[in-house]
Amino acid sequence: MAFTLPPLPYAPAALEPVIDAQTMQLHHGKHAQAYVDILNKAVDADSTLQGMTLDQLMAKAGTLPPAVRNNGGGHWNHSVFWQLMAAPGQGGEPSGALRDQIAADFGSVDAMQEKFNAAGVGQFGSGWAWLIWSGGKLAISSTPNQDNPMMDVAQHKGAVVLGNDVWEHAYYLKHQNRRPDYLKSWWQVVNWNEVGKRFDAAKAA
Ligand code: MN
Repeated sequence: MAFTLPPLPYAPAALEPVIDAQTMQLHHGKHAQAYVDILNKAVDADSTLQGMTLDQLMAKAGTLPPAVRNNGGGHWNHSVFWQLMAAPGQGGEPSGALRDQIAADFGSVDAMQEKFNAAGVGQFGSGWAWLIWSGGKLAISSTPNQDNPMMDVAQHKGAVVLGNDVWEHAYYLKHQNRRPDYLKSWWQVVNWNEVGKRFDAAKAA
């Protein structure tokens, strides 16, 4: 079955002023749609990949044709990314087991955010910053391009609890070259309720 673009779980303007509506429309409707379209075309052209789930593709990313690795990763990453955000003031706060685990592994939520932002700033070129559940603890990592910690090729593998897109297409219209500003303000639209659910699921797996 063909992969499909999930709808945004909020209006494109919902994340303003942190992320402007035009950026969301282009990011979701053009960039993310293109990953889906190219992924479908590439899988159609390779009978050994047909019928595989996106998670199955991620697990063997190192053996995939570049078009499937890059666009499959793009589809996986963005499908999670939309869910990880909510309108300012609507995403709740880190709570419960997640908050306790962040305190245990980083000292505080602020310290975790600083480390996450540093990973985003430090990712040269395009890529992603991640908070992952790996080896019984939370950790920060980053990946280039559309790779992710679910991939067999990831230097630091784990279950994705939170991730932020640091491709320029995610922030350039509003924040221009100021990636650190985007990373800092992005916490205002993090959907902690969703992050908490992902943490609970990762821990239980
Ligand atoms: Mn993107």
